[in-house]
Amino acid sequence: MAKPFYKNVLLKLSGESLAGDQGYGIDPHTITTIANEVKEVVALGVQLSLVIGGGNIFRGLAASSKGMDRASADYMGMLATMINALAMQDALEKIGVDTRVQSAIAMQEVAEPYIRRRAIRHLEKGRVVIFGAGTGNPFFTTDTAASLRAMEIGADVILKGTKVDGVYSADPKKDPNATKYTQLSYIDVLKKGLAVMDATATSLCMDNNLPIVVFDVTTDGNVVRVICGEQIGTIVKGE
Ligand code: UDP
Repeated sequence: MAKPFYKNVLLKLSGESLAGDQGYGIDPHTITTIANEVKEVVALGVQLSLVIGGGNIFRGLAASSKGMDRASADYMGMLATMINALAMQDALEKIGVDTRVQSAIAMQEVAEPYIRRRAIRHLEKGRVVIFGAGTGNPFFTTDTAASLRAMEIGADVILKGTKVDGVYSADPKKDPNATKYTQLSYIDVLKKGLAVMDATATSLCMDNNLPIVVFDVTTDGNVVRVICGEQIGTIVKGE
């Protein structure tokens, strides 16, 4: 059996990673595939929590650029992340993985409120905790929510699952000369403006020395590979 390198992991999934090829909404096949990987990770005895974005449904910034009030649009974005959180909970529970959804915005009929100590207890009991509704504050992103929650629960690492297999010097789809970084420092990310996480999330990780691994979550088995310490994707850490 594979031996985990990380013991307490926060997996950040973009909303888009649930959309599959359709590019929007939730693709049942894609979410089931990710749920199966999560199940494998939990079976290794790893404490796993999830933060899922909402970009497959609604993005505050995009709506505000078309004239909507930014704060209202951001609250809608946070609600979108709850839709994804509930979908992921359903996919995981169907395959026998115990989960709890905790929301940063009170909605007691559908999810527990975010309570740090309770989240830690769930993780100790082997439950997957899905943190929904971002940070609960407009003008933030789910990347920042992921950094914040990871710090609060004492995670060893943030795994940022994307559709690309790491961080590149330029967009590999547009620039044939784009090269992939295997390792970066937080300062590199901030100075070069690389699309790892937004600046708020990156500086939060830098201040608390929390490594981030950016990897391709759409390839089967990659979550387990990263957790077992295989060098795939790009790792961002202190120098
Ligand atoms: N959002 C927010 N505060 C948070 C987290 C998210 O206002 O703490 C809103 C914001 O409008 C954002 C949307 O929720 O556009 C969806 O999150 P995000 O864009 O981070 O999702 P992803 O790109 O990861 O799918």
